[in-house]
Amino acid sequence: MTDHAEQHASPTELTASFTELYGTAPEGVWAAPGRVNLIGEYTDFNDGFVMPLALPHTARAAVARRTDGELRLHSTDVPGGVVQLRVDELAPHAGHGWAAYPAGVVWALREAGHEITGADIQLSSTVPTGAGLSSSAALEVVTGLALSDLFGLGLTAAELAVLAQRAENAFVGVPCGVMDQMASACCTDGHALHLDTRDLTQRQVPFDLAAQGLRLLVVDTRVKHALGDGAYAERRAGCEEGARLLGIRTLRELPYAELGTALDTLAASGADESVVRYVRHVVGDNQRVEQVIGLLDAGQVRAAGPVLTAGHVSLRDDLRVSCAELDLVVEAANAAGALGARMTGGGFGGSAIVLVEESQADTVAKSVQEAFAAAGYAAPGVFPAVPSAGARRLV
Ligand code: ADP
Ligand code: MG
Repeated sequence: MTDHAEQHASPTELTASFTELYGTAPEGVWAAPGRVNLIGEYTDFNDGFVMPLALPHTARAAVARRTDGELRLHSTDVPGGVVQLRVDELAPHAGHGWAAYPAGVVWALREAGHEITGADIQLSSTVPTGAGLSSSAALEVVTGLALSDLFGLGLTAAELAVLAQRAENAFVGVPCGVMDQMASACCTDGHALHLDTRDLTQRQVPFDLAAQGLRLLVVDTRVKHALGDGAYAERRAGCEEGARLLGIRTLRELPYAELGTALDTLAASGADESVVRYVRHVVGDNQRVEQVIGLLDAGQVRAAGPVLTAGHVSLRDDLRVSCAELDLVVEAANAAGALGARMTGGGFGGSAIVLVEESQADTVAKSVQEAFAAAGYAAPGVFPAVPSAGARRLV
């Protein structure tokens, strides 16, 4: 098993590299984590429930204020030098590659009326990119938190998350929901975050895997199928269509007990069969979040395993956002004795999670790796998801 979370640049190292790059010392170093979502997928744009936990992997930022309107951005993880922009010239959809994520946060803060007069920023991250683990949200949230602290904005974690989401939606141009940014900003050590995306009310649910003799493995398939981007928009539109046909504002308003009747109504109204499937998934996954919360609160973490697998089946068959590699992780892990498994994040590649007895973790991981080799797929990355802290200042 590999775990790159430990390969973080230390605050001292990042401070030294910032000083070498910009010629002055940073005013501080901040961290914001990536996340995995335990249950509740494709629910956040339907005002629904999600349940992410923060990973030990973080994006880190060394930052110093400027007063001359310059914004200088550098990442130790991508080739190329410093990206230099002017805060008063930032405009949505202007490109900027990776730098659009932190620049978008500066733009969103200024749009919200906060006076950001410029900054030097150096970023360094151990969150795998494009693996469905929210490296983009980690980058946004760490930038937002650092600027909020340095410019004395006093933003709450939830306010930061909403601004970061706005940066990604409106500036970068990715129509994501608010889960990723909320997870990175609000999660706490040893907990999963029960988040109601309708009003952002939240509860930290104790999720101490080690104390229960359990592990949650992340399996990064290392693939990303091109289908993903358009498919996300199509699922989103289908869910909106379902809500419209049912005469409700969002699918959140449909209680699970009324799902059967609602599906009949949809079919009778001539809705596309895909809309019927999407509605079944979203309302079902909201229910699965409630189920998992109930089990965690009752100390029955093992019993959450089959609920995770049921969530996968729904994502595979009803929402149809899985892929052969993700299905293989779930199939091989469960066949090898896992308690349950599912794809996590947007799908079409990226990562899956596997709930497993600690004593079985290595065997199950090996079975998944062997199944990938037998199928001719590249070796997946496997590491334990330890529920970790959300965004914070390090020094
Ligand atoms: P995910 O959030 O699931 O990892 P996204 O496609 O949403 O995938 O975000 C990945 C993008 O975020 C990368 O292509 C890159 O532009 C940016 N990014 C993430 N981490 C870094 C980093 N350490 N340095 C520079 N850019 C990064
Ligand atoms: Mg992302």
